[in-house]
Amino acid sequence: MTTTAAPQQPQPAPIVPDPTPTAQPFWDALAAGRVDLQHCAECGQWVYYPRSRCSACMSPNLVWETISGAGTLYTYTIARQPTTPAFSEAPDLVLAVVQLDEGPKLTTSLENVTEDGVRIGMRVKPYFHRAGDLTLLRYQPA
Ligand SMILES: [Zn+2]
Repeated sequence: MTTTAAPQQPQPAPIVPDPTPTAQPFWDALAAGRVDLQHCAECGQWVYYPRSRCSACMSPNLVWETISGAGTLYTYTIARQPTTPAFSEAPDLVLAVVQLDEGPKLTTSLENVTEDGVRIGMRVKPYFHRAGDLTLLRYQPA
């Protein structure tokens, strides 16, 4: 007796960022397991997302510095319905905003945490998630 497998649906391509030349050092650092952030040499402001000028004083004198990436969960929500087919196989996704110890906030998602374990204000640390050719900066409890 033969069995017939159900027709396979083509798997959608993962949705990943398309780095710009300005942001490439950020992505290169993630691939190496580091979090690098721009720092303004003129006024001392930390800058995120990557830009060509300081968001505080407009200076083009930005330098990349390696930080720990540690921060605090600023807010979150749990996505229970996939918004695109690319997320249809994913479990509930904890979408989060993390405030880095240096000050900037970034949008990310949490890994290695249960819904009951998520608390605004909890300490979090980087989780380097490989997605195709890119490494994404996600977070997990510290
Ligand atoms: Zn500045």
